[in-house]
Amino acid sequence: MTQEQKGTALVTGASSGIGAVYAHRLAKQGYDLIIVARNGERLKSLASRLTAETGRTVETVVADLGDKTGLARIEGVLKEDRSITLLVNNAGVGGTAPLLSSDVDKMQAMIELNVTALTRLTYAVVPGFVARGGGTIINISSIVAISPEMLNGVYGGTKAFVLAFSQSLKHELAEKNIRIQVVLPGATATEFWGIAGTPVEYLPNEIVMSAENMVDASLSGLGQGEFATIPSLEDAGLLAAYEEARQALMPNLSRTVPAERYKIA
Ligand code: NAP
Repeated sequence: MTQEQKGTALVTGASSGIGAVYAHRLAKQGYDLIIVARNGERLKSLASRLTAETGRTVETVVADLGDKTGLARIEGVLKEDRSITLLVNNAGVGGTAPLLSSDVDKMQAMIELNVTALTRLTYAVVPGFVARGGGTIINISSIVAISPEMLNGVYGGTKAFVLAFSQSLKHELAEKNIRIQVVLPGATATEFWGIAGTPVEYLPNEIVMSAENMVDASLSGLGQGEFATIPSLEDAGLLAAYEEARQALMPNLSRTVPAERYKIA
């Protein structure tokens, strides 16, 4: 593959919102695409629009990533298609209700999509990236990974998983020429909010970003070599201080004796 050839990007959850904008921007950058979601009509109409506008090849795959068979199908694509150079793990659902008014079966379904599917897709793609000498994974987390008090706690937990898993992937795969980026969007104007239980119109305007600006900032962050990208965060020093505090904790977290303040003789 020459430097000009970008290869194929597989984008999950590309039928609307953030995923559809990633598909558009990546096609414009020269990637061929495989776009995945449940709504085939939407995928097809996006594919024809993108092919007409950019001339790239856009394949659509209808799959429910919350379902074993659908997920296995996309794992198969990621294992077999050697042209894939970029995976955008974007498909996800959220919730805005607290524990006492949430249905635990819906919470489990959220975990299956946001955590299990993202994990299995990553496991499916990485060995091929290693064998081919490189690749990129963009994992869509959320600011609730850092502030789970803001929305439904299980949603926050799933996105904290995405952040921690990405941190570990970066650590394990850096030597293998595999780029990992984790994106932590704030409130973004998509259908996500209506599906999660609070339509975006109910949020204060000043905290809501367009999906276009969110994705453009994230791709700019990727180009600048960022690992964690928080498109809304003006003062990048705050995130650096957070990471510094985490690094300072790390060598102090496991010892034979309990800390002095617990008064264990
Ligand atoms: P969205 O417009 O609702 O898009 C979600 C996408 O995921 C759709 O394409 C949807 O397509 C797909 N999807 C949902 N369930 C699926 C399933 N079971 N199998 C396959 N695809 C499925 O919302 P969005 O805001 O763009 O969300 C994209 C990601 O951004 C999510 O991971 C979300 O957690 C994250 N995020 C969003 C915000 C925000 O404020 N909007 C903030 C932080 C993070 P189908 O319905 O056609 O399957």
